[in-house]
Amino acid sequence: RLHNTIQELKGNIRVFCRVRPLVGGGLPKHIQLTASDNKAITLAKTEESHTGKTADTQKNYNFSFDRVFGPQCSQQEVFEEISLLVQSALDGYNVCCFAYGQTGSGKTYTMEGDEFDETRGVIPRAVQQVFKAAGKLGEQGWEFTFTASFVEIYNETLRDLLYTGKANKRPEHEIRKTATNEVTITNLTYERVTNEDQVLGLIALANQNRSTAQTAQNDRSSRSHSVFQLDIEGVNAGRDVKCKSTLCLVDLAGSERMVKSQSQGDRFKEMTAINGSLSNLGIVIAALANKESYVPYRNSKLTYLLQGCLGGNSKTLMFVNIAPEPDSFGETLNSLRFASKVN
Ligand code: ADP
Ligand code: MG
Repeated sequence: RLHNTIQELKGNIRVFCRVRPLVGGGLPKHIQLTASDNKAITLAKTEESHTGKTADTQKNYNFSFDRVFGPQCSQQEVFEEISLLVQSALDGYNVCCFAYGQTGSGKTYTMEGDEFDETRGVIPRAVQQVFKAAGKLGEQGWEFTFTASFVEIYNETLRDLLYTGKANKRPEHEIRKTATNEVTITNLTYERVTNEDQVLGLIALANQNRSTAQTAQNDRSSRSHSVFQLDIEGVNAGRDVKCKSTLCLVDLAGSERMVKSQSQGDRFKEMTAINGSLSNLGIVIAALANKESYVPYRNSKLTYLLQGCLGGNSKTLMFVNIAPEPDSFGETLNSLRFASKVN
């Protein structure tokens, strides 16, 4: 069974849908999940009869994904479904996992979680698993080197979330290709790490860096992508083999469309940057899924940065996070449509 699951994962782009619980509990009435296979989700729109003489009409929008997680699914259950994917990063596969959805839909909860042990999200759990697995592989003669980086993309500008220098001396960053065709960011902090605690410390630093920028600029984090990368290099001298890969975990900017009248000046610039990079991400993933010969990686910073982790022999997983409130119906429908296009 395990073998089959690993086979299924190879070269695949998978999409998982996760429904956030309603604030205050209970289940949303307009979202139906099929308990039997955990793969289907239906959004139901009820149009009330205006005259009262005719019956209300209901329109159903059906979607299916590799997996649908209902509001009661725990962080542990979600991680169980992706731990094989994380594991394959140590087998030399590049792995990329995104959270897509409107602000408030549970992207950060899914990727980072909160401070309690059982509510930790994908990033801390993945980091823990990687170091545990690397320890086991060590007994078979493998030696690993890990390098962590954490970058924010805001308005198509990169910002180092592990920067510790003076605020007024922040360097600018450029995405470059090395002589060996690897993507690298100029002036970025690439931190050698040897254990889980070190990485958790860096994540805390990144959060601190993000909240400083957030105070200066309200709600910035929902309008920027944050990209955590762990570069993994393994050597097995006894067997004369090497492997190299990147595990990339991304909390995307909120996918909501802003009301036009509100979007002037900086807001308009942000909106265009977000819409541009999210739709380009969709185009890139769809092009990869359809094995198209041209993949427009360079059309946005996000896909250019992730070029090495998308396509080729890499494995991609997208979470589409959705909010259960009836007034999010439109955004939820948009998100599900986006996700089924890349699936
Ligand atoms: P986003 O990052 O998409 O804007 P958040 O992850 O911040 O959304 O989630 C919004 C709120 O809902 C947060 O208070 C978060 O703790 C809570 N939340 C999100 N998903 C879940 C979940 N699956 N279970 C419990 N609480 C959740
Ligand atoms: Mg968030």
